[in-house]
Amino acid sequence: MAVAGVYGSDNAARLTYSCLYALQHRGQEGSGIASSDGEVICVHRAQGLVADVYKEQVFPTLKGKIAIGNNKYSTSKDRHVRNLQPLVAELPLGQLAISLSGVLLTDEARQSLKRRGTIFTTDADSEVILHLIAQKAADMPLESAILETMKSLQGGYAVLFMSLDKLIAFRDPNGLKPLILGKTTDNAYVVASETAALDLLNAEYVREIEPGEMVVISDSGVESYAKINGYKVAPCVFEYVYTARPDSTLFSLPVYEVRKECGRRLARQDKVEADLVIPVPDSGIAAAIGYAQESGLPFELGIVRNHYVGRTFIRPMQEIRNFGVKVKLNPVDSIIAGKRIVVVDDSIVRGTTSMQIVQMLKDAGASEVHMRIASPPVLFPCRYGIDTPDKSDLIANRYNLEDIRKFIGATTLDYLTLDNLKGAINENDCCSACFSGSYPLV
Ligand code: AMP
Ligand code: SF4
Repeated sequence: MAVAGVYGSDNAARLTYSCLYALQHRGQEGSGIASSDGEVICVHRAQGLVADVYKEQVFPTLKGKIAIGNNKYSTSKDRHVRNLQPLVAELPLGQLAISLSGVLLTDEARQSLKRRGTIFTTDADSEVILHLIAQKAADMPLESAILETMKSLQGGYAVLFMSLDKLIAFRDPNGLKPLILGKTTDNAYVVASETAALDLLNAEYVREIEPGEMVVISDSGVESYAKINGYKVAPCVFEYVYTARPDSTLFSLPVYEVRKECGRRLARQDKVEADLVIPVPDSGIAAAIGYAQESGLPFELGIVRNHYVGRTFIRPMQEIRNFGVKVKLNPVDSIIAGKRIVVVDDSIVRGTTSMQIVQMLKDAGASEVHMRIASPPVLFPCRYGIDTPDKSDLIANRYNLEDIRKFIGATTLDYLTLDNLKGAINENDCCSACFSGSYPLV
């Protein structure tokens, strides 16, 4: 999921839209923007990609100098239009909109609210947060109500709130999800999940919102309102592997460089006699470049990606082999035929993509296919909002390395070690639970 918000521009909603456009990769299920003109909060939400959700006629309805937005990532739990964000509610202190990226750790708060008669209209965790704030907001200022609420809720999330005159950003105390602050040349403030959102606005990167920090942006400027300390800081390492854009800088490191370093380390793990290194586009490109540079093997774009594949593609007939992957990825036969290929991808989850890619390369005439994965085996589901299948569906849980190699049909298979992944980001204190099973928050 992605969040983005803008404070202090007459074009706040349009700028937020641009941010969401740049953050499309973090959620394709649906999108929404809420804006405040100081008197009322208006919202527009719909299922689909950002380019389809917002038409020109939407923006005149999203007036004001403040806006927050959300791109929804689809998890099996809440795939329904009613769960799109931002949500807007009327609280004792006035209107409040919320945009959440990530999840709360447990459903306990919702169940407890329900037992006390609270009515829910969505499955979204953000509605739980709104109710808890509403209950506190009768006795204290909005900022305190938000802070007290967030203190009571564990999870992996970045969250934006918008009142009629403030934009408030909070990042989970474990720092699992990224959240950054930027500033446009017109002195509007931007808060977003990734720095790539700033680039589209020519906005400058100011800093990360720190784990557990609440930032309030108002007419008085940017105030770091409070910081919750004492938690194990554990940024999600999978952001570097897959989730983030390669042109983003995350937790102070450029994602592209980290992926390249993973590729270099992967090449150092063992020596392969091969003719070429090719990436699985786009997820394996940076790592494959690193691998090629380190191994000295030539780099080629041996698989081409169709960037226009939508979700609604209709299969012409069932019996076309590997159709699912072929519609998206196609080998360049003249490069592949007769060659010993090292193919680099970012991760293996269920194993279906790798299996289809190996078969596709063999069909294109590759004499050997050496699959190299720029992350360790995914062994455990994520509890913090990345949609991973049940443990039993993760191929690394069912098979050992040799059996996975056989399953995907590769000549050889190797994964980056966890030590090498952590070495690439020069960081031990990160969440790597989907690889290690060591959850920073239980
Ligand atoms: P699988 O076919 O299940 O092994 O999935 C592996 C492929 O999915 C890799 O090519 C990854 O780039 C991609 N991938 C990894 N993690 C995710 C995720 N959380 N959501 C969507 N795709 C992913
Ligand atoms: Fe990221 Fe994996 Fe931790 Fe989930 S379990 S937060 S995907 S590192």
